[in-house]
Amino acid sequence: MSSRPRTFRSEAIILSRSDFGEADRLLVILTPEHGKLRAIAKGARKPLARKSGHVELFARTDLLLHRGRDLLIVSQAEMTEPYLPLREDLTRAAYANYVAELLDSFTTDEDGGESAALFDLLDATLRRLCGESDLRIVARHYEMRLLDLVGFRPEMTACVYCGEAISPQDQFFSAAEGGVVCPVCGAQHVEVVVPISQHGLHALRVLQRESWAHVRALKLNTPLHLEIERVMLGYLIALLERRLQSAAFIRRLRAEGRQHPKEAS
Ligand SMILES: [Zn+2]
Repeated sequence: MSSRPRTFRSEAIILSRSDFGEADRLLVILTPEHGKLRAIAKGARKPLARKSGHVELFARTDLLLHRGRDLLIVSQAEMTEPYLPLREDLTRAAYANYVAELLDSFTTDEDGGESAALFDLLDATLRRLCGESDLRIVARHYEMRLLDLVGFRPEMTACVYCGEAISPQDQFFSAAEGGVVCPVCGAQHVEVVVPISQHGLHALRVLQRESWAHVRALKLNTPLHLEIERVMLGYLIALLERRLQSAAFIRRLRAEGRQHPKEAS
């Protein structure tokens, strides 16, 4: 503890903000070198907050941080990449909230292990969420990369029960075992597996092993999107053992949009 500098500068992405006391905000931030941190932005809720005022959600920000007795304090904040569409467009905001919540859920404070790679992944994903038209494919690719980095890469090539190589045909997926299940084993574990089509499996494999340049060329129809979303969310929820509230919010937005396209606000 004592060897760490009391004051240090770091780039950060604001994962979440919550009110703290009467005028302050508690930030959860991701940094490339120190991993995930919690810091207090003093006076950030006052209208004329200046030095530490630029702490917008999802924005990439240069922070000067000071270690107080119990908590980190933001001494200065300068936004370097605002990612404005993520705060102006409700659907983009919902996806940004989802990727930030997922990262928060799968990381622990001050674990610097993969933090540089996590920071780059989050930064690239937020940029894509600003401009891409198919936000679902951005989210699926992010999930696969994130699972790689936090050590929960799903097995997509061999049956998680018998180890047989998976052939290109309709299969099953086990969220509990974390991977694909062959038709023979699937028939023996019907209560704990979900079906996955040959096309769904192909899409998940592309998402897992290909670069974004390749993945963004994937053209998936709505049933296929829903199928791979169901498989991925089932796996993520099993891992986290709780429902991701932001994912439920995206589904609710979609349901509302389908029923009342003009009323989404
Ligand atoms: Zn099997």
